[in-house]
Amino acid sequence: MKGLSLTTELQDGARKLGLDFFGVVAAAAVEAYAGIDVAYWELRRRTARPSDILPDAKAVVVVGLGLWDRALDTATYEAKLGRWVYPAYTVLEQRCDRLALWLERRGARVAVTGRLSLKNLGVLAGFGVFGKNSLLLSRDFGPDFRLACFVTDADLEPEHPASGGDLCGDCVLCLDACPMGALTPYVVDPESCLVSLSLRAKGGNLAEVDLAVRERFASLDIPAYEPRFGGNLHLMCRVCQDICPQSSK
Ligand code: SF4
Ligand code: SF4
Repeated sequence: MKGLSLTTELQDGARKLGLDFFGVVAAAAVEAYAGIDVAYWELRRRTARPSDILPDAKAVVVVGLGLWDRALDTATYEAKLGRWVYPAYTVLEQRCDRLALWLERRGARVAVTGRLSLKNLGVLAGFGVFGKNSLLLSRDFGPDFRLACFVTDADLEPEHPASGGDLCGDCVLCLDACPMGALTPYVVDPESCLVSLSLRAKGGNLAEVDLAVRERFASLDIPAYEPRFGGNLHLMCRVCQDICPQSSK
Protein backbone atom coordinates (compact mmCIF):
# COMPACT_ATOMS: atom_id res chain seq x y z
CA MET A 1 0.00 0.00 0.00
CA LYS A 2 1.55 3.27 -1.09
CA GLY A 3 1.05 6.97 -1.45
CA LEU A 4 -2.14 8.68 -0.48
CA SER A 5 -3.92 5.64 0.98
CA LEU A 6 -1.01 4.84 3.28
CA THR A 7 -0.85 8.48 4.35
CA THR A 8 -4.57 8.54 5.02
CA GLU A 9 -4.33 5.36 7.10
CA LEU A 10 -1.44 6.83 9.07
CA GLN A 11 -3.38 10.03 9.68
CA ASP A 12 -6.32 7.98 10.88
CA GLY A 13 -4.01 6.11 13.25
CA ALA A 14 -2.73 9.42 14.63
CA ARG A 15 -6.28 10.55 15.29
CA LYS A 16 -7.09 7.29 17.10
CA LEU A 17 -4.00 7.79 19.28
CA GLY A 18 -5.42 11.14 20.35
CA LEU A 19 -2.84 13.23 18.52
CA ASP A 20 -4.07 16.75 17.72
CA PHE A 21 -1.59 17.42 14.91
CA PHE A 22 -0.48 15.24 12.02
CA GLY A 23 1.56 16.25 9.01
CA VAL A 24 3.93 14.81 6.41
CA VAL A 25 6.83 16.90 5.14
CA ALA A 26 9.09 15.82 2.26
CA ALA A 27 12.61 15.14 3.52
CA ALA A 28 13.99 17.31 0.70
CA ALA A 29 11.83 20.24 1.85
CA VAL A 30 13.27 19.94 5.37
CA GLU A 31 16.82 19.89 4.05
CA ALA A 32 16.14 22.99 1.91
CA TYR A 33 14.37 25.04 4.61
CA ALA A 34 16.56 27.49 6.49
CA GLY A 35 13.88 28.26 9.08
CA ILE A 36 14.71 30.15 12.23
CA ASP A 37 17.53 29.16 14.55
CA VAL A 38 15.75 28.96 17.89
CA ALA A 39 17.43 25.94 19.43
CA TYR A 40 18.67 25.86 22.98
CA TRP A 41 22.23 24.91 23.69
CA GLU A 42 21.45 21.26 24.11
CA LEU A 43 19.42 20.99 20.89
CA ARG A 44 21.80 23.06 18.80
CA ARG A 45 24.45 20.46 19.37
CA ARG A 46 22.15 17.75 18.13
CA THR A 47 20.21 19.34 15.26
CA ALA A 48 20.58 17.31 12.10
CA ARG A 49 19.06 16.74 8.65
CA PRO A 50 16.69 13.85 7.78
CA SER A 51 19.40 12.16 5.71
CA ASP A 52 21.68 12.16 8.77
CA ILE A 53 19.03 10.14 10.59
CA LEU A 54 18.03 7.79 7.76
CA PRO A 55 20.13 7.79 4.55
CA ASP A 56 17.15 6.99 2.28
CA ALA A 57 14.74 9.34 4.06
CA LYS A 58 11.80 10.42 1.93
CA ALA A 59 9.54 12.05 4.47
CA VAL A 60 9.27 13.32 8.02
CA VAL A 61 6.04 12.59 9.89
CA VAL A 62 5.30 15.34 12.41
CA VAL A 63 2.74 14.88 15.18
CA GLY A 64 1.64 17.04 18.06
CA LEU A 65 -0.39 17.28 21.20
CA GLY A 66 -2.27 20.28 22.52
CA LEU A 67 -1.31 21.03 26.13
CA TRP A 68 -4.45 20.41 28.16
CA ASP A 69 -2.74 21.42 31.41
CA ARG A 70 0.22 23.60 32.31
CA ALA A 71 1.53 20.82 34.55
CA LEU A 72 2.62 19.03 31.38
CA ASP A 73 5.41 21.62 31.21
CA THR A 74 6.94 20.39 34.48
CA ALA A 75 10.66 19.79 34.17
CA THR A 76 11.94 16.81 36.16
CA TYR A 77 15.64 16.12 36.48
CA GLU A 78 16.32 12.40 36.12
CA ALA A 79 19.66 12.07 37.86
CA LYS A 80 20.23 8.49 36.64
CA LEU A 81 19.77 9.59 33.03
CA GLY A 82 21.54 12.91 33.59
CA ARG A 83 18.83 14.81 31.74
CA TRP A 84 15.52 16.63 32.10
CA VAL A 85 12.19 15.05 31.16
CA TYR A 86 8.75 16.59 30.60
CA PRO A 87 5.34 14.89 30.89
CA ALA A 88 4.17 16.52 27.64
CA TYR A 89 7.02 15.02 25.67
CA THR A 90 6.85 11.67 27.46
CA VAL A 91 3.17 11.23 26.51
CA LEU A 92 3.72 12.56 23.01
CA GLU A 93 6.78 10.46 22.30
CA GLN A 94 5.00 7.28 23.40
CA ARG A 95 2.24 7.98 20.88
CA CYS A 96 4.74 8.93 18.19
CA ASP A 97 6.58 5.64 18.81
CA ARG A 98 3.35 3.69 18.36
CA LEU A 99 2.57 5.44 15.09
CA ALA A 100 6.09 4.80 13.81
CA LEU A 101 5.80 1.14 14.79
CA TRP A 102 2.53 0.88 12.83
CA LEU A 103 4.33 2.11 9.71
CA GLU A 104 7.33 -0.12 10.32
CA ARG A 105 5.07 -3.17 10.45
CA ARG A 106 3.94 -2.27 6.94
CA GLY A 107 7.49 -2.62 5.66
CA ALA A 108 8.83 0.92 5.96
CA ARG A 109 12.03 1.94 7.69
CA VAL A 110 11.41 4.48 10.41
CA ALA A 111 13.56 6.40 12.86
CA VAL A 112 12.04 8.38 15.70
CA THR A 113 14.31 11.30 16.39
CA GLY A 114 14.74 14.35 18.57
CA ARG A 115 17.48 15.73 16.35
CA LEU A 116 15.38 17.73 13.87
CA SER A 117 14.09 21.25 14.53
CA LEU A 118 10.49 20.65 15.59
CA LYS A 119 9.54 24.30 15.24
CA ASN A 120 10.74 24.43 11.66
CA LEU A 121 8.95 21.13 10.93
CA GLY A 122 5.77 22.59 12.42
CA VAL A 123 5.94 25.53 10.00
CA LEU A 124 6.55 23.22 7.03
CA ALA A 125 3.63 21.01 8.09
CA GLY A 126 1.37 24.04 8.28
CA PHE A 127 0.65 23.68 12.01
CA GLY A 128 1.33 27.34 12.75
CA VAL A 129 3.51 30.39 12.25
CA PHE A 130 6.27 31.89 14.33
CA GLY A 131 5.12 34.41 16.91
CA LYS A 132 7.16 37.24 18.38
CA ASN A 133 7.78 34.96 21.39
CA SER A 134 9.70 32.74 18.91
CA LEU A 135 7.19 29.96 19.54
CA LEU A 136 4.98 28.38 16.93
CA LEU A 137 1.44 29.72 17.20
CA SER A 138 -1.39 27.56 15.94
CA ARG A 139 -4.87 28.89 15.31
CA ASP A 140 -6.46 26.35 17.67
CA PHE A 141 -3.89 26.10 20.48
CA GLY A 142 -1.81 29.28 20.22
CA PRO A 143 1.62 28.35 21.64
CA ASP A 144 0.19 25.53 23.79
CA PHE A 145 1.19 22.45 21.86
CA ARG A 146 4.26 20.25 21.58
CA LEU A 147 5.66 18.26 18.67
CA ALA A 148 7.53 15.05 17.93
CA CYS A 149 8.58 13.42 14.68
CA PHE A 150 9.99 10.42 12.88
CA VAL A 151 11.82 10.03 9.60
CA THR A 152 10.83 7.32 7.11
CA ASP A 153 11.60 5.93 3.67
CA ALA A 154 7.88 5.22 3.07
CA ASP A 155 6.16 6.72 0.01
CA LEU A 156 3.91 9.11 1.89
CA GLU A 157 2.06 12.06 0.43
CA PRO A 158 3.61 15.30 1.74
CA GLU A 159 1.49 18.25 2.78
CA HIS A 160 1.71 21.50 0.85
CA PRO A 161 0.22 23.94 3.35
CA ALA A 162 -0.46 27.54 2.49
CA SER A 163 1.54 30.15 4.35
CA GLY A 164 -0.12 30.93 7.67
CA GLY A 165 0.64 34.66 7.71
CA ASP A 166 1.26 36.50 10.99
CA LEU A 167 -0.87 36.19 14.13
CA CYS A 168 0.89 38.85 16.23
CA GLY A 169 0.07 42.10 14.48
CA ASP A 170 0.97 45.06 16.71
CA CYS A 171 1.01 43.00 19.93
CA VAL A 172 4.24 43.11 21.95
CA LEU A 173 2.99 41.63 25.24
CA CYS A 174 5.50 38.80 25.36
CA LEU A 175 8.44 41.06 24.53
CA ASP A 176 7.58 43.36 27.43
CA ALA A 177 6.84 40.55 29.90
CA CYS A 178 9.93 38.39 29.49
CA PRO A 179 11.81 38.60 32.82
CA MET A 180 15.17 38.06 31.17
CA GLY A 181 14.66 40.42 28.21
CA ALA A 182 15.45 37.41 26.05
CA LEU A 183 13.00 38.22 23.25
CA THR A 184 13.27 40.40 20.18
CA PRO A 185 10.46 39.98 17.63
CA TYR A 186 10.32 36.34 16.45
CA VAL A 187 13.70 35.50 18.00
CA VAL A 188 14.65 34.24 21.45
CA ASP A 189 18.18 34.49 22.73
CA PRO A 190 18.58 30.91 23.91
CA GLU A 191 21.49 31.92 26.11
CA SER A 192 19.25 34.30 28.11
CA CYS A 193 15.94 32.44 28.34
CA LEU A 194 15.02 31.15 31.81
CA VAL A 195 14.00 27.78 30.41
CA SER A 196 17.50 27.23 29.14
CA LEU A 197 19.28 28.77 32.14
CA SER A 198 17.37 26.65 34.66
CA LEU A 199 18.19 23.46 32.80
CA ARG A 200 21.80 24.47 32.51
CA ALA A 201 21.97 25.19 36.22
CA LYS A 202 21.62 21.44 36.88
CA GLY A 203 23.38 18.93 34.72
CA GLY A 204 24.31 21.65 32.21
CA ASN A 205 27.03 24.21 31.70
CA LEU A 206 25.77 27.41 33.30
CA ALA A 207 29.35 28.53 33.94
CA GLU A 208 29.82 28.99 30.18
CA VAL A 209 27.01 31.56 29.96
CA ASP A 210 27.89 35.24 29.68
CA LEU A 211 28.53 36.72 33.14
CA ALA A 212 25.99 39.56 32.75
CA VAL A 213 23.26 37.02 31.92
CA ARG A 214 24.22 34.85 34.90
CA GLU A 215 24.08 37.88 37.18
CA ARG A 216 20.62 38.80 35.93
CA PHE A 217 19.51 35.19 36.37
CA ALA A 218 20.86 35.15 39.94
CA SER A 219 19.09 38.44 40.77
CA LEU A 220 15.62 37.21 39.71
CA ASP A 221 12.99 35.76 42.02
CA ILE A 222 13.04 32.62 39.89
CA PRO A 223 10.11 30.78 41.61
CA ALA A 224 7.89 33.72 40.64
CA TYR A 225 8.37 32.65 37.03
CA GLU A 226 9.19 28.99 37.49
CA PRO A 227 7.35 27.50 40.48
CA ARG A 228 9.57 25.03 42.36
CA PHE A 229 8.21 21.72 43.68
CA GLY A 230 11.54 20.37 44.88
CA GLY A 231 15.21 20.42 43.95
CA ASN A 232 14.63 18.35 40.83
CA LEU A 233 11.16 19.57 39.85
CA HIS A 234 9.91 22.91 38.54
CA LEU A 235 7.40 24.32 36.10
CA MET A 236 9.33 25.83 33.23
CA CYS A 237 8.92 29.54 32.51
CA ARG A 238 5.71 30.06 30.55
CA VAL A 239 5.45 33.86 30.85
CA CYS A 240 5.63 34.43 27.09
CA GLN A 241 3.02 31.70 26.52
CA ASP A 242 0.59 32.60 29.29
CA ILE A 243 0.45 36.26 28.34
CA CYS A 244 -0.15 35.50 24.67
CA PRO A 245 -3.72 36.31 23.54
CA GLN A 246 -3.43 33.34 21.17
CA SER A 247 -2.98 30.96 24.10
CA SER A 248 -5.70 28.35 24.59
CA LYS A 249 -5.21 28.32 28.39
S1 SF4 B 1 10.27 31.31 28.46
FE1 SF4 B 1 10.41 33.01 29.95
S2 SF4 B 1 12.55 33.69 29.89
FE2 SF4 B 1 12.19 32.44 28.06
S3 SF4 B 1 11.66 33.88 26.46
FE3 SF4 B 1 9.71 33.20 27.37
S4 SF4 B 1 9.28 34.69 29.00
FE4 SF4 B 1 11.44 34.94 28.42
S1 SF4 C 1 2.04 37.75 23.07
FE1 SF4 C 1 1.45 38.97 21.28
S2 SF4 C 1 3.39 39.39 20.20
FE2 SF4 C 1 3.77 37.70 21.63
S3 SF4 C 1 3.48 35.86 20.43
FE3 SF4 C 1 1.53 36.29 21.44
S4 SF4 C 1 0.38 37.52 19.92
FE4 SF4 C 1 2.54 37.53 19.29
